[in-house]
Amino acid sequence: VILGGGHAKVEEAGGDLIVGVDVGGTNSSVGIVDGEGKILAQARFPTQAGDPAETYVGRLVGVMRELHGRLQGAPPLQAVAIAAPAANSREGVVESPANFSWGRINLVAMVKRAMDLPVSIINDGNAAALGEARYGVASGMTNILIITLGTGLGAGIVLDGRLVQGHTSAAGEFGHMALVPGGRQCACGERGCAETYISAPGLRRTVFELLAERVDESPLRRISFDELTAEMVARFARDGDAVANAAFEKTGDYLGRLLASLVAAFDPEAIVLCGGLVNAGDLLVSPARRSLSEHVLERCRGVKLLVSGLKEGQAAILGASWLARETLQGAVSA
Ligand SMILES: [Zn+2]
Repeated sequence: VILGGGHAKVEEAGGDLIVGVDVGGTNSSVGIVDGEGKILAQARFPTQAGDPAETYVGRLVGVMRELHGRLQGAPPLQAVAIAAPAANSREGVVESPANFSWGRINLVAMVKRAMDLPVSIINDGNAAALGEARYGVASGMTNILIITLGTGLGAGIVLDGRLVQGHTSAAGEFGHMALVPGGRQCACGERGCAETYISAPGLRRTVFELLAERVDESPLRRISFDELTAEMVARFARDGDAVANAAFEKTGDYLGRLLASLVAAFDPEAIVLCGGLVNAGDLLVSPARRSLSEHVLERCRGVKLLVSGLKEGQAAILGASWLARETLQGAVSA
């Protein structure tokens, strides 16, 4: 368990505590959130998505209890709010997320059994959208798209101030929009999905494609596919490696093209990028911005491309917790 995040004084905690969870393909984050949207304590642990869901829930419950135990004198937890990929908020289930070996499971029922608290679940992209719209760089805006770039490509849509979830809570699964006809095999079964190019694994695939096409020397030639991480590619790019830089150029170009299509569909005021891959900063964002302005509809040229100021997992934790609190208070029906 990697523990991090600032520990605010519990006496300053406003209102009841909710424990928020962001289930990521690589890491999961847990945060205890007070009524004002302050994260009092946060922890991160490897998801190990190849393990059975029961094993995962056991570890998750351990981390939640440990984290709450660290806040001495803290009020009891009121609810658990989960943000997960492929989550169906109405049924409480996770629908066989790509990159996980879980299949279709009722994660809400499993966590409820262990914690004996109200448990809610929301698609991770939607949770991040709510978090950014309430507490992040897009706070106050009513038309925004949040794009999460990590193991996959997730998204959330806020239009006219409302979260758009769709019939099966799958709205915003932009990672599975067709980007390249007949392109790379995706974990969902289709070919050419956006996330096979625009994600951390997509970047690694692009690196290996470029290495095969080119003959120039690069330290990347001595690293295996399994060893290579997006952070390593970013480091090599900053050190001036041409292949690493070309991989980010290509990824950013794909991202800009995808965003231009999304702008045509939703006409947002801003697009917020978050997730681990965005730690690469301008390596990714500059080519994306260039490509977006090249391909975007003329009348939507004013759309802002922003980078989240929240730390990994925080937008989703804050968004899921906010929704759970509103639901507890009867303010919204989820
Ligand atoms: Zn797909």
